[in-house]
Amino acid sequence: MPKSPRNILGFDIGGTKISAVVGSSDGEIRAKIEKSTIKHLGQERMTQQLIEMGQEAMESVGLKKADGIGIIFAGLVDKEKGMVVSAPNLPGMKKFGIGPALQKHFGAPAVLENDATAAAIAERLFGAGRNVDDFAYITLSTGIGGGFFSAGHLVRGAHGLAGEFGHNVIMINGPSCGCGRQGCLESLASGKAISRRVKENISALRDSELLSRIPVQNLDAKAVFDAMENGDGLSRLIVEETVYFLAVGIVNVVCTLDPELIILGGGITKSGSYLFPQLRKAIMDEFKSMKRPIRVVKAMPNVTDLAAVSLPLFYRQEDK
Ligand SMILES: [Zn+2]
Repeated sequence: MPKSPRNILGFDIGGTKISAVVGSSDGEIRAKIEKSTIKHLGQERMTQQLIEMGQEAMESVGLKKADGIGIIFAGLVDKEKGMVVSAPNLPGMKKFGIGPALQKHFGAPAVLENDATAAAIAERLFGAGRNVDDFAYITLSTGIGGGFFSAGHLVRGAHGLAGEFGHNVIMINGPSCGCGRQGCLESLASGKAISRRVKENISALRDSELLSRIPVQNLDAKAVFDAMENGDGLSRLIVEETVYFLAVGIVNVVCTLDPELIILGGGITKSGSYLFPQLRKAIMDEFKSMKRPIRVVKAMPNVTDLAAVSLPLFYRQEDK
């Protein structure tokens, strides 16, 4: 008789949104509660808010007790202590012992992990990485991060920092990055970098039929991709350049890890139908004499929800 699926309570603490989900061990998301992040909430009130959201999610599906808790955080974490180490987008959360706090309240073991690493785990359990021993997951969002499996094992690195693909420098003396280096992939091809590059071309921006109609504060990656698909010239240049930067960054990853599959997630991958065909072509061009068969695919649409749910399932398997 098949074992009945286990119920996992998942939390995602991000710079713009926080969410609580109830998911099952077969990858179904049964409930989701989402709220905007209040930046200076403080650790105590953040814990309270997460507890309330978790309870609401559980009650909505009539769940009395979860079998495990997974928490994902956009920043560096100490997985063993269940504690946030650094939080560039949520400064008040530094040294936040969120794992033990939620474990105590809900009475189930909690695992805390970096969001991009957890997304790689979700793809390994439920997505395109299921039967693939060597693959990299790259998130293209406000920032650029990632995680990877090598020979069937998750690689976290000595400090839990493996897979920081966004901070590979691809342009010496390029734009300043949040990390302090110059010309990182993140400083050129992230969502934040795309809007900055559009705004830097302010004279061309005034001539741009479509972009000049959008308020400057709303000029994000999606607006640029949409304008390009509607025939805007400046947007096309920005997107073509972005595709080239991404291809260089991805080929660097491939040269280091030699994966057979690259999975791309994050907001930018939801921008229209142009990105993937062009990016695959640009990657093949950038390989030059090092060509190899490699697949580049889009992440599961609900990879973020499943990332939190995957953690207790995955680390239970790994610990055996
Ligand atoms: Zn950087």
